[in-house]
Amino acid sequence: MQWVESWKGRRTAQALAEWDAPIQVCVRKRPISKKEAGKKGFDIITTTTAVHPHACAFLHEPKLSLDRSRSIVTHPFHFDKVFDEYAGNDLIFQTTLQPAIPKLKEGKNVSLFCYGATGSGKTHTVFGPEGGRGSATTAADIGLYHYACSQVFGVAAEMGADVFVSFLEIYSGKVVDLLNNRQHINLLEQNGNFIFQGLRESHASSVQHCLQIMAVGTATRTTQATDSNSTSSRSHAIFRLELRVPHTGTTSLLTLIDLAGSERGVDNPSASAAVRREGAAINKSLLALKECIRSLHVNSNYVPFRSNKLTCVLRDCFRAGTCIMVLNVAPTNLTVEQTMSCLHYANRIKEYSHAAGGGSGDAGGGGVPLPATAEDLLAQLSAL
Ligand code: ADP
Ligand code: MG
Repeated sequence: MQWVESWKGRRTAQALAEWDAPIQVCVRKRPISKKEAGKKGFDIITTTTAVHPHACAFLHEPKLSLDRSRSIVTHPFHFDKVFDEYAGNDLIFQTTLQPAIPKLKEGKNVSLFCYGATGSGKTHTVFGPEGGRGSATTAADIGLYHYACSQVFGVAAEMGADVFVSFLEIYSGKVVDLLNNRQHINLLEQNGNFIFQGLRESHASSVQHCLQIMAVGTATRTTQATDSNSTSSRSHAIFRLELRVPHTGTTSLLTLIDLAGSERGVDNPSASAAVRREGAAINKSLLALKECIRSLHVNSNYVPFRSNKLTCVLRDCFRAGTCIMVLNVAPTNLTVEQTMSCLHYANRIKEYSHAAGGGSGDAGGGGVPLPATAEDLLAQLSAL
């Protein structure tokens, strides 16, 4: 069965039924950096490393009252999975993408996107140290895209599929091809599908070949980042592996997305007009993403994919299959406001998905009430 959408963006009930499970929402806390320790930042995030409904991240918000007394207010947030600062990329891969990859054999799609403020660990998660340019020295550092490549070629061999790799970036409202010198890509809509006009889709014959192709793209992205002081944090990077079976025409798609830093959308009156415009564009794209996910889960018969370049590009990710969101968070009080706002965004997405499906695939837990406070959670855990 195909993902059916008319050109006005309407979906059929059939397509809805193919949605395997609600989007899985996970949180990953990174370790305190030397820089944060140097600024006397302290850890304000604690986690329970269980799965839903006991997976919880607590943000301990430091408060200073008018009478100068200090207190801590603890905010609990529930997710499908929570990873603490000791979880490496290998564990993240094993518990998120790896179980979903066999779905590609059924012609389904698998996607994972990392959301979070700049410096929270999104690029480290998807591409490894220095966005794939640095050498990963341990299994905990190897980027998810590398692990995904290793698995996808096994699946492709079983299917008799060819693997095509593409790597693009959305920056300042433009879509550019990272495997082809940042050529601009036009998005065209044809028979309800989006076509990336001019996108280079390189045929990869092996894992090593795929990584070689990607080395060009990660170098293009990170060089630009150093040139203009972290442009990459203001862009969405999208890595796609498409599996095509020549005889049957079956296709399936694996997509990994390193989203732009979410704080770019925060109003900053001292920023230049250009920076604020750029921030507003990022904010708009992240809101559009949230709105599409909401529409997908509330059985709305209209999903506004066309409202933004990011959602146009990501539409295929929401075709039948599995979608995983990883919220990356920095651990300290130095970024408390950004972290709080990201936790609320991710929590909203989890609420949409659980309202639709109640429990997320392997996470299970349907029917168990979510604990409202830290004390309730501890009581539930001790009763297990
Ligand atoms: P973002 O892409 O969200 O802006 P980065 O992935 O660039 O953030 O991470 C910021 C810094 O923190 C980088 O130096 C990165 O190597 C480091 N870092 C991020 N996550 C981890 C982690 N889980 N373990 C060790 N270092 C990490
Ligand atoms: Mg980054």
